[in-house]
Formats: sequence, C-alpha cells, structure tokens
Amino acid sequence: EAKLSGKNRYHIFDTKEDDLVRERFEQIQRLREALNTDEFVLYYQPKVNMRTGEVVGAEALIRWEHPEKGLVPPNEFLPIMEGHALSISLGEWVIRSALKQIEHWQSLGIHIPISVNISALQLLSSNFFEQFEKILLEFPNVKPSFLEIEILETSGLEDLPKASKVINRCREFGVHFALDDFGTGYSSLSYLKKLALTYIKIDQSFVRDMLDDPNDLAIIEGVISLSDAFRMQVIAEGVETLEHGRILLQLGCELAQGYVIGRPMPSDKFIDWLGEWKPDSSWTKQSLLNDA
Ligand code: C2E
Ligand code: MG
Ligand code: MG
Ligand code: MG
Repeated sequence: EAKLSGKNRYHIFDTKEDDLVRERFEQIQRLREALNTDEFVLYYQPKVNMRTGEVVGAEALIRWEHPEKGLVPPNEFLPIMEGHALSISLGEWVIRSALKQIEHWQSLGIHIPISVNISALQLLSSNFFEQFEKILLEFPNVKPSFLEIEILETSGLEDLPKASKVINRCREFGVHFALDDFGTGYSSLSYLKKLALTYIKIDQSFVRDMLDDPNDLAIIEGVISLSDAFRMQVIAEGVETLEHGRILLQLGCELAQGYVIGRPMPSDKFIDWLGEWKPDSSWTKQSLLNDA
C-alpha cells in the first residue's frame, strides 16, 4: 500500500466512494420497498404519572419487521434515510399509523394520547404543515389533542422562527409538542423561550447515571426547575429501576417512561400491560409524604 502513488490512492478512494453511494442507493430502495409492503410497525411505550398511577400517554417507536433479520431498531435504519425524501414519507406513515391507533383504542374505550417522533428536518420541511393538516382531516373522529409530537432536539432547530410558526399552527388544532432528549446535542435554552412546548423530556443518559454521578443529578434538577419556570411538564425517560423513579418523584418529576414501568410493545401487548399496571407501592407512599 505504501508503494502506491498519490494518484492511485485517489483512485482507490473514488471506488470506495462509488461503492458507498451504490450501497446507500440500494439501502434506500430496500427501505422504500419495506414502506410499500408494510414492514414497519409502531411499538408503544407507556408514559405514566408515578404519583397518581395515571397512564398519561404512549410513545410510538418505529421498528422494522425484517423478513430475515427480525425486528430492526430505528437507529439501524433511520440514519440511512435522514435527509432523503423517503424519511418524509415514513414520517407521514408514522403520523397516520398513530392516528389510526388512537382511533382504534378509542373504539375500545381506551383514551390515551400517542406521541410520535418527528425530526426537526421533517418539521421544517417545506410543506410539513399542509401535509400534517391533510392527514389529520383523514381522521375526523380523532381529537388532534390526542396526538403529540416529540421533536428530536439533536437534529437541529436552527430556524427557530420557522419552527415556532409551524408549532403554533399545529397547536391551533390542539396538538401538543415535546422537546425530546433535552440536555443533549444542540441544546439551547432559547428553544424553551421561543417554542410553545407542553413537555420537556429529560434524556435517558442523565437518568441512567443520576444515582452515581452528582453532575447528572444536578442536570436533572436544573431541567425540572426550568420546566417549572417555563410552565412546561417534565418527563423522565429511561427510568430503569424503582430507585430512579423514587428519586425523580422526590425531585418533583412525576411523569416517567422506562423499562421498569413498561417496555415498548406491540399495540395488543400494550392493552395487556394496561390491565396489569400498578404504580410501585413505594412511589405512592412517597406521594403521601409529599402531600402531607
Ligand atoms: P427517543 O425518542 O428518545 O426514544 C426513547 C428510546 O429509549 C427508545 O429507543 C426506547 O425503546 C428506549 N428506552 C425506553 N425506555 C428505556 C429504558 O428504561 N432504558 C433504556 N436503556 N432505553 C429505553 P428506540 O425505540 O430504539 O428509539 C431510538 C430513537 O429512534 C428514539 O429515541 C427516536 O429518536 C428515534 N425514533 C424512534 N421511532 C421513531 C419514529 O417513528 N420517527 C423518528 N423520526 N424517529 C424515531
Ligand atoms: Mg421520543
Ligand atoms: Mg427521548
Ligand atoms: Mg433518547
């Protein structure tokens, strides 16, 4: 290799580039086929109020039911689509599927809001609002206030005035917004100032280490005070142990999502989970202390 001239090196590099371009093209083709043949599926993870036990919502998380590979998590295919028109189509599929699910649950007497994850890129894409409105109108029986949109903060909301405008138009329908993974990536406090958000989600990385790392605990306390100051509700994600839940409750964060409460599950399993769910007794005891 060391003997290769500069020119040949470039040649090798170009070939690799071509391979990469071709590979991505093939991957996109395969993903488009997956969308057309209904290989994607939404799993639902409960969000609960740890103090009252109320199930306040369900987050829709996409999976790919690959015929050979089995269940493929979003981190393995969403990045391939990022920036490609296909991700817009997939985003619309997610919104439509969530609305269908809300409608179906309501027909069973289950009234639980569903949140969908939308990248900032999609939110800021040229006719997001028009498309969104069109999809909402396909479901005249569903109250749009049962739909929530989680915006992934890391994907860059640079154009704040535009984001704010889109959010406000959707809010006129009653749709709620959450800022996802707060505290990671391009966190900016001006998001909180400029955007009409209902929820802030504390990223799971802070929750995971909060019992061992005082800095993570300090960040969580900071996010909770911020959410109070901005009159937003705070949700902790990645609550994996009862102890996490207990401390979060003590700090004033009542809403939580995580494996110790319920994993993301197919919609029928979610209904089974609903039938069995009880808040941990130590959490409710804690709430008695707080209320006294
Ligand atoms: P996210 O929106 O922050 O979702 C939370 C992730 O944490 C989910 O991973 C969930 O399964 C996982 N999780 C939940 N509870 C726990 C816990 O207690 N411990 C741990 N370690 N993890 C927990 P998932 O489903 O693999 O999704 C990863 C990311 O992919 C999501 O992060 C979201 O940013 C993105 N994503 C998922 N579905 C969609 C979608 O439909 N559209 C878009 N644009 N992005 C999506
Ligand atoms: Mg999310
Ligand atoms: Mg999150
Ligand atoms: Mg996250």
